[in-house]
Amino acid sequence: MATRSVETSGPQETESLGGELAGLLRDGDLVLVRGELGSGKTTLVRGAARALGVTDPVTSPTFSIGHRYRASGVAVSHVDLYRLAGLEREEPELLEDYLGPGRIAFVEWPGRAHGELAKPRLLITLSHRGGDRRRIEVQGAAGDATEARR
Ligand code: ADP
Ligand code: MG
Repeated sequence: MATRSVETSGPQETESLGGELAGLLRDGDLVLVRGELGSGKTTLVRGAARALGVTDPVTSPTFSIGHRYRASGVAVSHVDLYRLAGLEREEPELLEDYLGPGRIAFVEWPGRAHGELAKPRLLITLSHRGGDRRRIEVQGAAGDATEARR
């Protein structure tokens, strides 16, 4: 798997990176987004969703595990499993409305699903680097068109 690591110095740059990564995504793809609170996961998803054609405001899901947005040709799902103890104790079908064909799905706190999620197209890990700096590691299809379509 190709790995790419970048540092951003503000939310705008993280959104832009999200927008760039969106170009690698296809219908049915899953993107896992890991990192501490405030590391910029939702910010990155917002940039990606915009680039995929979402015009509604992209905000953190609070009253449900996810949001679904209409985009160009597909739906964009944004799931946040932060409050989920572990999917095996919840309904596994909770996620079915958000993942799979017809959608491009982003999942924050994927570790909460304890391996219940499919293999992702991209695995993104964000970390704090002091102030507004964030390190963003992208594993998967980045920069590799062949791998992106596999
Ligand atoms: P998470 O979803 O990981 O909890 P959010 O994207 O909701 O994080 O919040 C990140 C916060 O950090 C926002 O308030 C954003 O403006 C701020 N921020 C500062 N610098 C950056 C950066 N380089 N990248 C992303 N967000 C940043
Ligand atoms: Mg978030």
